[in-house]
Amino acid sequence: MQRIRLLPEEISRKIAAGEVIERPFSAVKELVENSLDAGATEVIVELQGGGKKLIKVQDNGSGMSREDARICLERHATSKISVEADLDRISTLGFRGEALASIAAVSHLILRTFDGEGESGTLVERRGEKVLAIEDIAFPKGTSVEVGDLFFNLPARKKFMRSDQAEAGLSIRWLTGMALAFPEVRFLVTHGRREVLNCPAVGSLAERIYQLFGKETLGRLIEVDFREGARRLHGYASRPPSGRLDKNHQLFFINGRLIRDRLLQAALNQAYRGYLEKDFYPEAYLFLTLPYEEVDVNVHPAKAEVRFRESQLVFYLVLRAIETSILKQAGIKEIYPVSNSSSPRLQVKESARPIFPEAEKRLREEAPETSFLPEEKIRPETGLQVLGQYLHSYIIVATEEGLFIIDQHNAHERVLFEKYREVDAQGRWPERVPLIPLLFDLSPSQELSLRENRELLESTGFRVENMGGKSYALQSFPDIFEPEEARQVLLALLEEMKGEKVLQRREKLLATLSCRTAVKAGEFLSPEKMGYLVAELFKTSNPALCPHGRPVLLKLDKSQIERSLKRSS
Ligand code: ADP
Ligand code: MG
Repeated sequence: MQRIRLLPEEISRKIAAGEVIERPFSAVKELVENSLDAGATEVIVELQGGGKKLIKVQDNGSGMSREDARICLERHATSKISVEADLDRISTLGFRGEALASIAAVSHLILRTFDGEGESGTLVERRGEKVLAIEDIAFPKGTSVEVGDLFFNLPARKKFMRSDQAEAGLSIRWLTGMALAFPEVRFLVTHGRREVLNCPAVGSLAERIYQLFGKETLGRLIEVDFREGARRLHGYASRPPSGRLDKNHQLFFINGRLIRDRLLQAALNQAYRGYLEKDFYPEAYLFLTLPYEEVDVNVHPAKAEVRFRESQLVFYLVLRAIETSILKQAGIKEIYPVSNSSSPRLQVKESARPIFPEAEKRLREEAPETSFLPEEKIRPETGLQVLGQYLHSYIIVATEEGLFIIDQHNAHERVLFEKYREVDAQGRWPERVPLIPLLFDLSPSQELSLRENRELLESTGFRVENMGGKSYALQSFPDIFEPEEARQVLLALLEEMKGEKVLQRREKLLATLSCRTAVKAGEFLSPEKMGYLVAELFKTSNPALCPHGRPVLLKLDKSQIERSLKRSS
């Protein structure tokens, strides 16, 4: 590797400024990127206390000379760029030369490194700006950086840290992404005494997906490999009509970097429009390779975003690449494109079928009741009349005081939420045990979420057992679902409760269960069902808002109608 030097002021000023180290995850990211830049084939990450207590990253990369080890902790010390023009053709993950300096400034850092030349390796120890030691040590070729006591001198920053699990979750999610981007590198990640990621080097992305997420996931994906000149999109994405209930499994890499990007997300979603069932999102692990000069990575302090020189071009490349792959797959035979582009390309029965028939059945069976609590303004004071359904999504209700337009999904969510809360308060959910245990695989971050939320999930009847490795079996679930629904809901819950504050998790869980079991927009409702739903809605504690805080209804006062139509003065 090239020698490290300090960047001249005029270049360093041009590098996107900003706080590089915000939380343990930022340090993990910078350290692991350095290891990968150093050509490591093995990266070992140890976290203690979510990384707040300790982060250790060890690699078998190029290592550093004594001189480099001394200077690498200085601000703007980098071996990766030297002249301004280099900024336009960045091929390494790092380039700012300030990550190590920023980490060292706010932690107790011990660097050990050896480049294989000369007699011995080097140890440099710092606490904040204070150098505690520079010594010769015996060390194998490679580098290890230990970051202890992060933000010891920034108590304010410390207060913003979330729970150990939540902080670890951020790192693990990103490390999972890196493991996908570098299948040829062995990753071993532990949190406390727990191994959260252990993937030996493999020869392909498919094998890495298998290692990380299991066979079931791989089976749900199709390969994407599409080139246009020097541009390429490759990876794996959902095999229609399978998708996921959450958007957390859409990972994009641009020239090997895990990037958040709206444009790519939009292209992905557009490509799948009509191929997936309602409320399902595509899953994708996609790698975009662009000539370095077509993408600017120097726009975000943590390098999590990029700017495309020609975004149109990238959008259509992704769209075409995915559409082509979908069409190429044998799975396409099950899809019958229809001419109207706004209607789903997947043929479903005329009346949209309920996604959760069990909940639907229950709703139908429960006897319609009409009694109202008149204490709030929003509640109709006198009898109400359901006029009908509008757009298969809204229930129009007339009362003496005016008209209500009620969102059927949000209304049902509110009703179910209160019912579930009651069941929950009584402490026992009716459990259902499937005839055969339902198997599924969990990603490392989902496993983490399961560990964190197991007790909560069990209290509502979701019992999950590990079957070895990433395989799990759903042994029982709340008796409001069909087995397949239960499995999907569990996976959605694991995603949605990630990093939530403990106190809010139960509410979140109940809100999610309600949302998943509520009737959907676009679903036909019989007059009886509408009558029942409206009656139940006005019995709830807050008919105006759904448990997620979205409005349920719109009220048009009689006086307002009369005024507008000039019936009264
Ligand atoms: P940057 O990665 O932007 O160059 P850093 O502060 O992250 O800046 O690192 C400074 C320099 O230290 C790098 O340019 C590289 O030469 C050296 N370095 C850092 N980590 C490692 C490592 N794990 N192995 C070898 N060299 C490293
Ligand atoms: Mg770096």
